[in-house]
This record gives sequence, C-alpha cells and structure tokens, in this order.
Amino acid sequence: MPPEPASTPLAAPRRIALAYAAFAGAWILLSDRALDLLFADGRLLGTLQTYKGGAFVALTSLLLYLALARDATRRHAAEAGLADSEERYRRLLDGVQEYAIYLLDQQGRVASWNRGAERVKGYCAEEILGRDFACFFPAEALAAGVPAARLAQAARDGQCADEDWRLRRDGGRFWASTVITALRDGRGAPAGYSVITRDITEQRLAARRLAEQEERFRVTFEQAAVGIAHVAPDGRWLRVNERLCAIVGYSREELLARRFQDLTHPDDLAADVAMLQRLLGGEATTYVREKRYLHRDGSVVWIELTVALCRGADGTPKFFVTVLQDISARKRIEAQAQAQLTMLEALYSGAAQLTGNLEVQALADGTARFCVERLGARLAWIGRAEPDGSLRLLTSAPAEFDYPRRIEVRWDDSSLGAGPTGIAIRSGRAQVVDDLGTAAAGRFSPWHALAQAAGLRTSAALPLIHRGEPFGALNLYAGEAGFFTPMRIELFQALANQLAGALAGATLYARLREQAGALERRVAERTAELAAANAALTQQAEQLADLYDRAPCGYHSLDAAGRYLRVNQTELDWLGYPREALLGQSFRALLGEASQRLFDESFACLKRTGRFSDLDLELRRADGTLLPVALSATAVIDAEGRFVATRSTVFDVTERKRAEALVRRLNAELAERAEVTEAANRELEAFTYTVSHDLRAPLRAMQGLSQALLEDYGPVLDATGREYAQRVLAAAERMDRLIQDLLVYSRLGWRELACTDLELAAVLAEARAQVLADPARRGAVVELVEPLPAVHANASLLRQVFVNLLENACKFVAPGARAAVRVWAERRDGRLRVWVEDAGIGIAPEHHERIFRVFERLHGIEQYPGTGIGLAIVRKAVERMGGSVGLASAPGAGSRFWVELPAPG
Ligand code: ADP
Repeated sequence: MPPEPASTPLAAPRRIALAYAAFAGAWILLSDRALDLLFADGRLLGTLQTYKGGAFVALTSLLLYLALARDATRRHAAEAGLADSEERYRRLLDGVQEYAIYLLDQQGRVASWNRGAERVKGYCAEEILGRDFACFFPAEALAAGVPAARLAQAARDGQCADEDWRLRRDGGRFWASTVITALRDGRGAPAGYSVITRDITEQRLAARRLAEQEERFRVTFEQAAVGIAHVAPDGRWLRVNERLCAIVGYSREELLARRFQDLTHPDDLAADVAMLQRLLGGEATTYVREKRYLHRDGSVVWIELTVALCRGADGTPKFFVTVLQDISARKRIEAQAQAQLTMLEALYSGAAQLTGNLEVQALADGTARFCVERLGARLAWIGRAEPDGSLRLLTSAPAEFDYPRRIEVRWDDSSLGAGPTGIAIRSGRAQVVDDLGTAAAGRFSPWHALAQAAGLRTSAALPLIHRGEPFGALNLYAGEAGFFTPMRIELFQALANQLAGALAGATLYARLREQAGALERRVAERTAELAAANAALTQQAEQLADLYDRAPCGYHSLDAAGRYLRVNQTELDWLGYPREALLGQSFRALLGEASQRLFDESFACLKRTGRFSDLDLELRRADGTLLPVALSATAVIDAEGRFVATRSTVFDVTERKRAEALVRRLNAELAERAEVTEAANRELEAFTYTVSHDLRAPLRAMQGLSQALLEDYGPVLDATGREYAQRVLAAAERMDRLIQDLLVYSRLGWRELACTDLELAAVLAEARAQVLADPARRGAVVELVEPLPAVHANASLLRQVFVNLLENACKFVAPGARAAVRVWAERRDGRLRVWVEDAGIGIAPEHHERIFRVFERLHGIEQYPGTGIGLAIVRKAVERMGGSVGLASAPGAGSRFWVELPAPG
C-alpha cells in the first residue's frame, strides 16, 4: 500500500474531533471530581453541575469555532496557493523543453501534454490527448506487449524506468529515457500515470562514441607495440601496459609498486630527472631521449623515451604520459655496425699494409701486431704448417706474451693436433673456443690453463688458406668472453684470407728471389769455374806447349812420307835449323848414310807394328856436325786404321855415348883393380890368419907359462913375484882379447855378408844367455819385452852386436849396483828399431859420438875393464847390414842404445 499522504483533506477535522473528544473526556472526568472535592454540598453541586454544563458548551463551542475558523482560513489559503502553484507548475512543465512530461489515465491514454512532449514526440496536445500511449512504441515493442508491461510494472513497483526506442509522430525513432510513475488519488486509489520521457539519442551516441573511444584507448594502451605508462610527478608508475612489463621484465603489480627511478640506469638518472623538472616547470611540454633501464634480470635495456606532462584543468601536473620503445636491438645493431665499420676500416688499412709487404716475416709480424693494436685481440700468433706435421711459430704479438712459445702444437692427426688450431688447419674452418675455462676440462687443459693464467678468456683459430689448401693458422685470443662474434669471426677470417694470399705471394716471391739468387750464384760460380778452367786450360796448353817445346828431348811428327809435320824447339835448337826450314822437309835427308838404312827399316816397321824405340841414329846439324840421338816413335792411326803420322822422341845421346865410353874404360880399370884387391884380400886374410894364429901363439905361451909359474912356483915366489906373474897373465889375456876383437873388427871390413829374415827374439835370447853365462854378470837382469818381430840381418853379426851392447849395459853400472836391462823393439818408417836400455852410470852427450870409435873409452881399465872396440864393432856391423845406431843418455840417468835395421822385405 502506498503511504497515506501527510496532509489529507480529513486530517484537520480529525484533529479537531480528536481534540474535542480529548477535552470533553478530560472535562467530564476532572470537572466532576474537582467539584466533588471542593464542594460537598449536593445541591450546590447540582447547581454547579448545571453551570458547569453550560460553561462546557460555551467553551467547546468557542473552541470549535476557533478551530474551524482556523481550518477554513488555512484551506482557503491552501486552495489559493494550490491554484497558484498549479499554474506555476503548468508553466514549469511547459518551460521544460527537453523532457516530454505527460499524464496517462488509468487505461494508458494520454491525459496531459506539455511543450516538451510536443517537441520531443512531435504531437501537439490536441492530436494526442486521449490516445493510447502505445502509439509511441515501435512495432516490435508493441508486438512484445511492452507498453502494457511497462504500465503494469509501474503500477506494481510505483515506478518503471527504461531506455528504449520510441517513435515520433513522423515515424522517426529516437532513443528515449522514460520514467513512468503510477499516480494515486487522495484516497490512494490508482489515478493514472505520469510519464517523463527524454530524447537521449545524442547522449547515447556520444556515450557510445566515448565508450568506443575509451575502448580504443584502452586497447591502444594495452596492446600497443610500445610501452606506455602514466607516471606520477614523484615517479611512481600509475598505469603501465603489458608491453612495458615485457620490456623491463616486471609484472604489472611489481611495476606499480615501484618508481621509474628504481629502474633507470644510474648513469641516466640525473639527465632524466632534469628533463622531468623542465616539464614540471613548464619549460618544455614534451621530450624524447634515449636511456637505459635495468631489466629485472639485471641486464641493460635501451629505451627511446617520449614523455609529455598531463595537467589538470587548473594547470596542476597530474601525471606524465610516457611512451617507451625498446631499442636494444637497434642499439645492438648500431654497436655491431659501428664495430663492423671500425673493423672494416681497420681491415682496409690493414689490407693495404699487407698487400704492400713482400717479406714473409714482416707480413706475419705486421698482421699479428695489427690484430692486437687495431682489432682488439689480446694476443695473436701465426703458425705455419710444416710438411712433417709440426707447426712453426712465425710470429706472436705482443712480445711479452710467451704463451705461444711455451705450447707445442701440431696440425697432423696426433694428440697435439687435436686442438682448435690443428682442427682449423685440417678442416679449413675457423675454430672458436668461447670459454677457455670450460674447454679446459678437455684434453688441452695445460694449454688452456696457461692461456687462462695469462688472462685470456676466449680464442679463435683461423685457417690460412691459399688455393683451397690450409697452410697455417692465425690464432687470436681475447680477454672478454663473447668477443668472437660470428661477425668478428667473419672479418678475422677475411683478414686471415688476405694474410694467406699475401703470405703465399711473399713466400713465392722469396722463393723466386732465392732461386734467382741461386741462379745468379750458380752463373757466377760457373763463370768463375769456366774462367778458372779456361785459365787452367790456357796454362795447361802453355805448359804443354812449353813441355813440348822446352822438353829436354826433341819431339817431332813425321807424315806417312817421313816429312816433318811438327817439331819442338829443343830439336830445332839441337840441330840449329829454324822451324820453317824443317817443316815439310824429309827427316831421312838429315841422316847419315848408315842411319838412313836403319831408319828406312824402322819406319817401315813402325807403319806395321805401330812403334820402334831407341834407334841409334846420327843427325846432321845445320853446321854439318853429327848429333848422336836415340829415336823412338809411335804411330798415329786414324779411324780407318791408316797410318797418319809419327810421334817421335829424339834423345841427345852424346853424353850417354861419352859415359858409355867412360864406363867401358872404367870397367877395364876396375877389372884390373879387382885383381889387385883380390890379392890384397888374400894377403889380408893370410895376415889375419897369421895374427890369429902366429900372434896369438906366443901369447898363449905367455898365458900358459905364467899360469904354470903361478901354479908350480907360486909357493916359492914372494908376493911381488906372484903379482908380476899374475900381471903377465892378465896382460896376455887382455892382449888376446884385444887381438880377437881387432880380428872381428877387421873382418867386418871385407867379409862377405849374407842377410836373411831372422827371429829377433831368438837372436836376443842367445845373446842374453851368452852374456849372463859370464860369472861377472851374476845378478844382472835382462828383460826382453815382446813383441820382438822379425828382422833382416846376418845372424852371427846381429848376435855379436847385442852381446856387445848387453855386456856394456851390464858392465857400466855404479859399483855394487845390480844391472837391470830392458830390450824392446818398435817399427819406424818400415824399419825396426831395437832399444837396449840400462839404468847404469850414463854417458855425457859430448861423448855420444866418440864412444863408437875404436879404442875410445871413457873409463880406466881398472874401473871398468874393456878393449874400447865393442861399440866400434857394433856400429860397423850394423852399418854393413844396412842399418844405423845411436843412443840417448846422460850421466847418472842410464843409457838407451838403439839399433835400426831393415824390416823383412
Ligand atoms: P869397452 O866396453 O871395451 O870399453 P866399448 O867400445 O864397448 O869398449 O865402449 C866404449 C866406451 O863407451 C866404454 O869404455 C864406456 O866408457 C862407454 N860405454 C859403452 N857402453 C856404455 C854403457 N852402457 N854405459 C856407460 N858407458 C858405456
């Protein structure tokens, strides 16, 4: 039920009636009670009751009158006001042009119509009043029973509001906002409806447009390919789009909890803040700059930032609108392009340098330095692949890095060739080691550890390829990881290719130069050789010519007819003819008669047998005298076996002839002398015999008799007599010895000697035995040192020689000392030298020659007995056997006698 209106027409009477009832009730209750309390007199009470009744009527009538009068006044005023307000209300309604405001009766017919309705719907009041308001609905709404439904909803809910299409009088549609309110009369019964309709077609369109715009903006904001954000003046992110989140790697929530300062690269912040201050200060309305943000993962993101300040209506800064474009890729490309450009420039200048150089070493040095100084490599080295699989280090830079010199790299299939360099050369493809630290786990850890220790992080081995054949590698190292980008590798490889070409050219150039040099040297050598050969040839020719011309014999060649073809100067000089006089002349014509016959026979024989020799001829000189010559010749035969010429030698035999005559004369004299000598020898032998027998006979008698005298008459003789007898005996013995020695010595002069090959050892052993058999030599030691080879000598003479030498060696020792003798032999220039060494008293050098002479002694006979002939025999005997003797000795230092004899033939 709708609430009853606060002021209904019955309200006032009801209030009056209620006030009356209340007053009357109170009067009845209180007045009687009050009278009863005040007055006890019943009569008085009755009277008073009557008066009281009259007062009550009068009072209530008065009150009633007053109330009614007041109510009437009020109503009148109200009615007057109502009329007034209705008029004003009507005027108000009519003044409302924008709204159609009208009433419907209970059945939905139009009951009132204002100006606005007329304007909105197109009907004037006369046309529409009384018509069903359904005429405002389009056909489809009618078909759906919308008008009735709306009224029913209003009746039920008191009000129904909708927005829907409505029709104008001209059938045109407009979008209407309608509120239908159910009306009730004073008693609350339904009294129709009020309808307020507004044409909001425009607003709707505007709202639509706005919504579309907003959507478009939202979509644009959200789905923009660039990052967009609203940023508060203090830097807080107010609104961010997806793209921005993606660029910086933060979620929307994370971002909204941060300020742009938190993400800005520290180096860019000051400039950023300064720009924002300028915007806030109104110095600029927008700015664009490139800056860096820090991505959530810590990496740097390059951004192109456009900022504009959005101000409120009052001009206070509201927020910044920022547009952020990720230009990291562009920056990277720019950086790469810049790097590429730098490298290309460097390469260009490097290439010019390379191509201008023809020295292999200088080229390699220059390139390695170039890579380090201009292209950013920390270390560069170049190795050349040798045919034996090793890698020769051509160069490395900078010089202080000894790493390349410390490693051993090969390019063959060995384990030392399994590194990047070896692979690069074998495969012809660049090899990059991104991180030497990781690769160090592999088989090349010693090298990589070395490299790392030298501060190198990454390496690239670039093959040097010429005509498709890798022949070395350019190795580069860098200190920072990722240095060898594909682009750098491409450029470095281009450099390596250039270097390879230049190196190949330089090598070729060097080889050519070397070959040219060798050729030049060879030519020079050849020229020198030829010159030397020429000179030698000339010299030889001169020598030959000289030999031919100046030979100590005559040379000539005769043709088949026996005419001079050639003749040497010696022969010309001998004969006294000039050359031209002889050439073409017959040789035979120069001969004496007897010689001519001999020559004819020999010349014929020469043509047959090819030679004759030592033909005794006489040649006639120019002065007519005869020259005795010995002519020999050989035949020069041509290819067909024909005799061509002679090669003849002519010896001047004048001297020979003279010598032959002399020899003949001497021979005759010799024969005569031989006979005399023979006779003398015979006499000498007879004398020797005489000496040995006849001279020794009285001696032996003296010996025998003095011996007998001592034995038989010794007791009767006094001491002096015995001493004389003994001295006679000793003198006789010495005399005998002397005679024997002299005999030996003299025989040596004329006796025939037969020498044979002898065993020296045997001869020495016999001599030693003979010497040591003498009791006077007791205690002497004679050592024969092997080997003692064979010798060519006369056996008995040789034994005599060694007996004499050994005797002396044993004899000439200091008194009381034991003799120690050593004998050994040595070969000398095809001869045999035998040494006899003693440790005796020695001989002063000035006596070395003397002692070999007969009777030369250095000591008295009492001190060292002897004849003074022993060494003379030694020398003579040795010389007769074709040898020689000598010694080395000094007083007190012992003596070393030597005998040199021919070795066996
Ligand atoms: P003899 O031995 O009979 O005196 P030799 O002709 O054999 O005669 O020697 C001549 C001298 O040479 C000797 O008297 C001696 O003075 C010296 N003489 C020879 N052999 C030796 C020797 N082995 N050591 C020292 N003196 C020597």
